[in-house]
Amino acid sequence: MADEKYRYWCGECDYRTPWRTESAGAEEQIEHYDRRHPGTPPGGRVELRAKKTDGVGCLALLGVLFLLLLAAFTFRYWP
Ligand SMILES: [Zn+2]
Repeated sequence: MADEKYRYWCGECDYRTPWRTESAGAEEQIEHYDRRHPGTPPGGRVELRAKKTDGVGCLALLGVLFLLLLAAFTFRYWP
């Protein structure tokens, strides 16, 4: 999943592949050309997904949730 940061845009129409790995995206674009634009050499462009810090934010959120859960349990079973 982490490597799925390439999106291939068709040079002939509005088609673009979903986020894929570099090789899977290239393959999908070639398939698209085979289907939609037979005889046309694959063109277009590649979009590289900007690196986000979402993963870290998500992890931090999970950590906070875990601490809250821990606190809830601690206080619930406190003698
Ligand atoms: Zn196309």
